[in-house]
Amino acid sequence: MENIIKLNQDGSLIVPDTPVIPYIPGDGTGPDIWNATRLVLDQAVKTAYKGDKKIIFQEILAGEDSFKKTGEWLPKETLDQIEKYKVAIKGPLTTPVGHGMRSLNVAIRQELDLFACIRPAKYIKGVPSPCSEPEKIDMIIFRENTEDIYLGIEWEAGTKEAAEALSFINARTSKNLDTATTGIGMKPISEQYTKRLISKAIQYAIDNNRKNVTIMHKGNIMKYTEGAFLKWGYEVGKNEFKDNIITEQDLWDKFDGKAPGGKIVLKDRIADNMFQQVLLRPSEYDVIAAPNLNGDYISDLLAAMVGGLGLAPGANIGTNCAVFEATHGTAPKYAGMDKVNPGSLILSGAMMLDHLGWDRASEIIHKALQKTILNKTVTYDLARQIEGSTKLKCSEFAEQICSLME
Ligand code: NAP
Repeated sequence: MENIIKLNQDGSLIVPDTPVIPYIPGDGTGPDIWNATRLVLDQAVKTAYKGDKKIIFQEILAGEDSFKKTGEWLPKETLDQIEKYKVAIKGPLTTPVGHGMRSLNVAIRQELDLFACIRPAKYIKGVPSPCSEPEKIDMIIFRENTEDIYLGIEWEAGTKEAAEALSFINARTSKNLDTATTGIGMKPISEQYTKRLISKAIQYAIDNNRKNVTIMHKGNIMKYTEGAFLKWGYEVGKNEFKDNIITEQDLWDKFDGKAPGGKIVLKDRIADNMFQQVLLRPSEYDVIAAPNLNGDYISDLLAAMVGGLGLAPGANIGTNCAVFEATHGTAPKYAGMDKVNPGSLILSGAMMLDHLGWDRASEIIHKALQKTILNKTVTYDLARQIEGSTKLKCSEFAEQICSLME
């Protein structure tokens, strides 16, 4: 039992020195990036703690490998293991096409109620970026992971269900939607799920000395879903965190635009404006809290601004457990070629170490990765953009990072 991570009453982790952490290597290029990541994580923990701590990685099944071995894409045993050990890490998984299957990644998030999809976007020096001042980008997105369009409630045009839903809408409104030719999707957003997400985002800002939290929404058009997300977000700020936050309104009305020390500014931006804000004034944004669909879009935009999905980490965190994962897909055309960039999963692994409270090991990874990139020793995706670079295989890139750890 001493290898199992436990939870305190307040939700914080009690981490043994040798925790078992389940892993899913993933499909396609997943095994390549997982092997590289495992090498880096083990070496960083060894360098940081000189053998006093070590992760016991334990494989669990999901995806194509699981289907071949068990006939199931996502066995219940896998979800049980993640719940038992509280923290897991995974490579990308293929979404089976034509099996009527929803995405396995979405299924894992929903089955385990991993309600916050957390995606940091911080520039790493030397990575080619389409932005002129990428060093100003240091944001973290908290995307709601369980409702909004992720619930997948939609009916195809021409079905009985779509016609029934449309008839209901026609009867209750002045709309006259064509019940035979119109498809329909639903966008449920609830008070309790909004509040737990925004509470997590604000708590993160407090714990990490961030300056502001921005609620991203399209409440001007979708008043009772995204507008409610905004309203409930401010309620959380004012009720749960009244000693820690001031609103942007207060900032100007009471403090002449300068936030008093230790106070976090809670502000909001309409989604379309948010896109131009992060591009044009990135240094003004720190933590962004968004409903599911907005969060999806803004996460990938920010990842592109700091150099692409190959280096974008991510985590899905709930009340009882957390899964850290590469944010890109399986890149199947490169499967087994030991070619792709393992950076996304490596940085997700570093987030996992932070989550365990093993910050020293995480810092070692960030520094060694930074040096590796500044040395221009990189995988194909970066090599094709960096003049004078040396192209490394996926495994060589990991070995290079390990060799620069101190
Ligand atoms: P993808 O696997 O992300 O690959 C698209 C392109 O992105 C690749 O061809 C490659 O570009 C680049 N890329 C992806 N990973 C890279 C890496 N580690 N290093 C360097 N470049 C990388 O997207 P997809 O082809 O749309 O999806 C393939 C499968 O993955 C699908 O089954 C999809 O459902 C699944 N998927 C899974 C997840 C997940 O598990 N979280 C997420 C998204 C998609 P170049 O061709 O330019 O080299």
